[in-house]
Amino acid sequence: MIKAVFFDLDDTIADTSRLAEMARKNAIENMIRHGMPADFDTAYNELLELIKEYGSNFDRHFDYLLRRLDLHYNPKWVAAGVIAYHNTKFAYLREVRHVRKTLLKLKEMGILLGIITDGNPIKQWEKILRLELDPYFDEVLISDFVGVKKPHPKIFRKALGKFDVKADEAVMVGDRLYSDIYGAKRVGMHTVWFRYGKYANSEIEYEKYADFTIEDLKELPGIIEVLNGEGKEDSDKKVHTD
Ligand SMILES: [Mg+2]
Repeated sequence: MIKAVFFDLDDTIADTSRLAEMARKNAIENMIRHGMPADFDTAYNELLELIKEYGSNFDRHFDYLLRRLDLHYNPKWVAAGVIAYHNTKFAYLREVRHVRKTLLKLKEMGILLGIITDGNPIKQWEKILRLELDPYFDEVLISDFVGVKKPHPKIFRKALGKFDVKADEAVMVGDRLYSDIYGAKRVGMHTVWFRYGKYANSEIEYEKYADFTIEDLKELPGIIEVLNGEGKEDSDKKVHTD
């Protein structure tokens, strides 16, 4: 019997990659509008490379962008970038399609709901609170607080402990085959790969750890019914019997 469903946050609950792309593009545009002598494509590609090298939580992206473009430091351009970036993030944060409907349905089914996410705890809470999704979740586990990152088993075990459920009474839903699906499967949880966003074709070597694959969150309640032996099995769902 399934008692708990855990969700990843970025690109599973919050539509973050699309938002980040929009915010970065708007930042570059605003820097150019305020006089930065660079063409859009060069600056944007340089920014993407920089984020890849230094990580998305690095706090000096725009300073370093100027260095990489061989431009002198100009606080006005950096400010223009920061403003456009934050305004976009503030105005366009959206939840993934059918999130609310799905969470509501699962709640009606008596399922406990949790989030298991990596990332900066304040930034992660900011997304949850801005979307006003906090009332739907009984627990939010952020890996920084546990001192490990997904797919480390410790965070999944901790999540199960919070709800006092066994691994086979829980489902993990996430967009990353490695951190979400492989991680959860290793501790014995049921896994649903949400094939969505920029990782939809990545880490495919871990696909064997996904019990189900979905492209729309509204398929989830049906999967829980299948796991509980209540629903009809959908023939296009991949089900592992091992
Ligand atoms: Mg994710």
